[in-house]
Amino acid sequence: MNRPTNLTHAMRHMGGVRQVTGSMREWFEDLTQINRNVGGFTPQYIAVHYTANDGDTARGNANFFRSVLRNASAHLFIDEKETVKVVRLTDIAWHIGSNNPRHPAARNRNAIGIEMCSRVRQGGSRHNFEDFWIMDEVVDETVRTVRYLMNRFNIPIENVITHEIATGKRCPATHTGPNAVLWQEFLRMVEDYAPPQVTNTPEFEANVEHMVELGVINSPYYWLEREGRIPHINALLTAAIPTLDARIENGVPGVKEALDVLVDAGVINTRPAWENPDRHDPWLGQLLINIANRCINPIERMLYAEARGEGLNGLEKVFNVILNRHYHSAFPTGLYRVMFAPNQFSPVRNGMYTAARPDAVPAIRKAVINVLDGLDNSQGATFFSSLGEKRWRADPWWGGPTMTHLFNYKNHDFFARTQDIGRPIRPDS
Ligand SMILES: [Zn+2]
Repeated sequence: MNRPTNLTHAMRHMGGVRQVTGSMREWFEDLTQINRNVGGFTPQYIAVHYTANDGDTARGNANFFRSVLRNASAHLFIDEKETVKVVRLTDIAWHIGSNNPRHPAARNRNAIGIEMCSRVRQGGSRHNFEDFWIMDEVVDETVRTVRYLMNRFNIPIENVITHEIATGKRCPATHTGPNAVLWQEFLRMVEDYAPPQVTNTPEFEANVEHMVELGVINSPYYWLEREGRIPHINALLTAAIPTLDARIENGVPGVKEALDVLVDAGVINTRPAWENPDRHDPWLGQLLINIANRCINPIERMLYAEARGEGLNGLEKVFNVILNRHYHSAFPTGLYRVMFAPNQFSPVRNGMYTAARPDAVPAIRKAVINVLDGLDNSQGATFFSSLGEKRWRADPWWGGPTMTHLFNYKNHDFFARTQDIGRPIRPDS
């Protein structure tokens, strides 16, 4: 049997028959480092596209835009099963760029791009616009997603547009040209869609909010729905948050340790199910994996960027400098805040942090664990420099009275503020 054409599709959905219900999915995150601009994004429009492929998947698209320089991208890709976030909603995706824009104000810098994965009807051709169709599941999820984004960023329905409205390109072909009636239908579905009302305890909502702030949860709607449906979900978050905070402050690594805490707290009693997320709710598994990554990965990236060639000993020294700053009242508290303080660690600015491949240097994980286990080979250093002896001695700040040179190790010279010499930094030292 032939797949439905767009027009039978349209007729089937006319008259308000079709109502989107249910809640939006959680998004899977597979971010690209190319085909986008970092920062500078203000979401004011939502532009809907189709991929013009036949049976492609959101993950396949994410993989493609992560690996191939296309000068194109989108924030979100939606297929019938998954939504994958490829570009952060604070970064600019490249989906309605044009030398000759049709819309007066919608541009890449202010439009969220959503790509619907498409299909070609049996016997049809990718070269014929009218042969494309979009599965209902994809359209419905796009409706939910658009609504979510409208609510989240205060975007009015007038600012929900097609690629065609933005630049004149026939995209999505399924909702433009002779199928324009389907775009009106789409907008009607967006307006009619009401996300399920859920009543949560304020504590649970606060917990979800906290997880969003920590960057562990991408789409709070999904989580806010779960309180009544997953036993112990709030207990899970309540137990996980202090662990997560502590790990972000102190950098203690690992999913296994997060699991230990949750088991100790009585939240989890089937540990193997959690260690094998595929057997369970995959998004909860993802949560635990994210906890581990969020805690340990930034430190490892920084060590890679600063000292990957300095051996175990040098890596440990650099991590100890970060820890010393965390304990020192003159610096921010928390390893993240130390590392991302303005104008402090150069890899944050020069891109080395982002490009870091800590998995390639096994000594990095070992250094992190050794230091967290109490190894301190820093002699109280809170600064290091790779200028080399001639240059730091000639430099008025490094070589001046404010700073005291403690020691050299390979390419780094380690320093403390002169006023700190002889004063213990860490609470236990
Ligand atoms: Zn498009």
